[in-house]
Amino acid sequence: MTFLNSAFALGNIVFEHSGTNRVINETWFTHVGVDELDPDKTFESEMKAALGTEDSPGVLDVYSSGLGWSTTSASPNSKVGYITLFPFQFALGGLELEKLRVQGDGVTMTWVSFPDGLFEKAFLGSNLVHEIGHWAGLFHTFTTQQEPGSCEGPGDYVRDTPVQAYAAHLKLSAFDTTCVAQDTCPNNPGSDAINNYMDYAPEACRTEFTPGQFKRMRDILSLYRDIET
Ligand SMILES: [Zn+2]
Repeated sequence: MTFLNSAFALGNIVFEHSGTNRVINETWFTHVGVDELDPDKTFESEMKAALGTEDSPGVLDVYSSGLGWSTTSASPNSKVGYITLFPFQFALGGLELEKLRVQGDGVTMTWVSFPDGLFEKAFLGSNLVHEIGHWAGLFHTFTTQQEPGSCEGPGDYVRDTPVQAYAAHLKLSAFDTTCVAQDTCPNNPGSDAINNYMDYAPEACRTEFTPGQFKRMRDILSLYRDIET
């Protein structure tokens, strides 16, 4: 909670811990979030139906599960974390998606991604910050509406993040701590946002949201998650 709240503090966004529920279920642990083991998300739905909290868009459920990670390695289809949908997708998607929000909103993380975990230098906690950024409506800093690698398009809809064509991790190792920014769109102002939580840079490099990202999150939390800002 300390790590989380310090990441969002400059935006005056504060999370309160309302409870932790520990459940032992090997099937959920191995299947949830692994596409080939839960293709139609049956196990994910079952887990969320059993463990999800109150039906309020402003309550954030964080699920910690396997997501394809064993104690020593990751399977080819492992994930670090994911959200179900963006908040505006639920809100604009009609009754079907509203049903999905009630049943399945939240952030699902692999247990190894939390601080003081298995991979000390690679997983420091900022993946949860990244996923909660999505939960609050942020896109990746390297998002465009054109094909990957393009510098054209509306990007992440945030004005003060530099235009970026590729995710940082395509050039850097997860254990890299040198944090040297690329400039994948040299004709646009600024280098790639290697320090930004919403890039895929090594975790040690990810230390900030921009004022524009905080504004977008506050607007979306207020509009689509009924949180007063
Ligand atoms: Zn992401």
